[in-house]
Amino acid sequence: MNTEKILNFIDGSYREGVNWFEKRNPCNNAVFAEVAEAGRDEVDAAVAAAKRALRGPWGKMTVHERAAILHRVADGITARFEEFLAAECRDTGKPRSLASHIDIPRGAANFKIFADLVKNVPTESFMLDTPDGAGAVNYALRRPKGVIGVICPWNLPLLLMTWKVGPALACGNTVVVKPSEETPSTAALLGEVMNEAGVPPGVYNVVHGFGPGSAGEFITSHADVNAVTFTGETGTGAAIMRAGAHLIRPVSLELGGKNPALVFADADLDKAIEGTMRSAFANCGQVCLGTERVYVQRPVFEEFLGRLKAGADGLVLGTPDDAAANMGPLVSREHQSKVLSYYAKACELGADVVTGGGVPGMPGDLAEGAWVQPTIWAGLDDDSAIMREEIFGPCCHVSPFDDEDEVIERANDTDYGLACSIWTENSSRAHRVAGQMDTGLVWVNSWFLRDLRTPFGGSKRSGIGREGGVHSLEFYTELSNVCVKL
Ligand code: NAD
Repeated sequence: MNTEKILNFIDGSYREGVNWFEKRNPCNNAVFAEVAEAGRDEVDAAVAAAKRALRGPWGKMTVHERAAILHRVADGITARFEEFLAAECRDTGKPRSLASHIDIPRGAANFKIFADLVKNVPTESFMLDTPDGAGAVNYALRRPKGVIGVICPWNLPLLLMTWKVGPALACGNTVVVKPSEETPSTAALLGEVMNEAGVPPGVYNVVHGFGPGSAGEFITSHADVNAVTFTGETGTGAAIMRAGAHLIRPVSLELGGKNPALVFADADLDKAIEGTMRSAFANCGQVCLGTERVYVQRPVFEEFLGRLKAGADGLVLGTPDDAAANMGPLVSREHQSKVLSYYAKACELGADVVTGGGVPGMPGDLAEGAWVQPTIWAGLDDDSAIMREEIFGPCCHVSPFDDEDEVIERANDTDYGLACSIWTENSSRAHRVAGQMDTGLVWVNSWFLRDLRTPFGGSKRSGIGREGGVHSLEFYTELSNVCVKL
């Protein structure tokens, strides 16, 4: 087979693994690469390299020196923008228009923002009175946690990986990254940029593979990994907590969601439709923050539903290079089967299929790809599986509501607590409702508007901990207090 090889990146150089697995193009299901699966030996080598690097030049650098290197990493990504863009689009099938203004630029920005942040964050200090009158001074130091295991999903591969690697490295840690088996390319390519930027060997390592019985489990159960940060499904998050429990190892978990949008009758419907179109369908619905439950106040329900349907019907499905396309396929045929099982379930439950609900007819070899139609349902009650379980596809259910208290209760009645959007032109209502939502993120008249200095994370089964801004430092550093008797 004449396919590209995607390798592990360990201690500054590329290495094969114990096995090869196929990487398929989601647009047509054709194999285009073979990926080197890391076995236990490769993971051990990566962790050992990361541990050694903590004691090498990386560990001795000043904050400013480290920050300067991370700026070069960001510039290196930008200099090779087209390569990163092509790799990300080929792995995921997402439109170039999306990846070129979200995935790749944000992936690069994550290095700069955290490099600049660590230079400017103070720590606390206290003067303590002592019986001899001389006193003592206490001050806190932020030290790196050590080797960080970084386990990543496939939906925004570079962006979500650097969201963790950026702050981890800025704080002086070293990392062993496992990208999703569906999206190995940009993490591997970043190894070249790390070398070019002068990141010492062992600071950034990438091992490819799967979860259980493979690289994912080997990292998360490794005794020399000091902390694990994970983004992915809630069930996987539970497995990762269990794997590190006996080691009392800190975990940061960014997990699934079943996010609501609340559209009040006083909303600017143009904005609410535009926002809900993005939150339900962007990235083919594969965004953890995406909206799968839309609650619309009854006086505007029919108008909203009609306009959302028109928007969904206007989406153009196509490959990354198709300039007219604004929606790609799902990431894999496996994920397509999962999403289609929910499409079938919605029908079995008696949903009103407002639009979509199946597989679109695609020409030529694209018929083999992981395509699904953008889909809107109505008519199901809040207890149905469609309203309770994360589907992670381009679909949403739209329900009417009558009053504010009712919609808050219904929106919060879920195991998840990641994000919500509130659409209203009444600012008192906006603040009142925002303060009652059981979610880590609340958007008012917007969606996915991110200030990287702000806390990001979910409540309930959507995660543990917050990343972003100084909150990332809480996870990526160990705070030690120095008490000096004067
Ligand atoms: P996933 O949980 O299937 O896989 C994520 C990663 O975990 C992959 O690299 C996988 O190989 C690895 N993995 C799987 N089992 C493992 C195990 N037992 N031990 C160690 N590693 C293991 O998630 P996915 O399908 O790649 O991503 C989609 C999910 O991610 C959705 O649920 C979505 O909501 C969630 N997500 C959450 C956020 C957030 O910020 N909260 C962001 C993006 C995606």
